Amino acid sequence: MNQLRRERIGKYIQEKGAVTVKEVSALFPDVSLMTIHRDLEKLEEEIDRLLGEIHNSLYQKALENRERRTYTAASMEEILSIAGDPEKTGFIRTMWCEDPACEARMKEEAGLTSRCMPLEQEHLYDVCPICGKPAKSMIIWGKAY
Ligand SMILES: [Zn+2]
Repeated sequence: MNQLRRERIGKYIQEKGAVTVKEVSALFPDVSLMTIHRDLEKLEEEIDRLLGEIHNSLYQKALENRERRTYTAASMEEILSIAGDPEKTGFIRTMWCEDPACEARMKEEAGLTSRCMPLEQEHLYDVCPICGKPAKSMIIWGKAY
């Protein structure tokens, strides 16, 4: 019974967009105002729970998609191969010496621009694949369209 009433209240709210407790209460003349309040609280909890689930599901899908489409490259040859492969859309992560000249070269030769330097750095290998000098950080590149 409670569940049925809550479903009716939920549908009513969907139709109206916004409702008052008085309006909802009028739909159920035999149900106390306190019970209507409790129903609305339960519905609010249910909506919060569902939105949380939807959020987590969408976030997880986006994260998996990003991870699946982020390729690691250790040489300019690998970078060019990935960047030139129409099947490999997404991002390329490499190490980088942090010299803007290498960033410019990456754009010119591979058509890639820097997208971010993740806060959680990984040491993939020792040298910048663009110039061969010691690498300072991991960087994510994306195709410049
Ligand atoms: Zn470099």
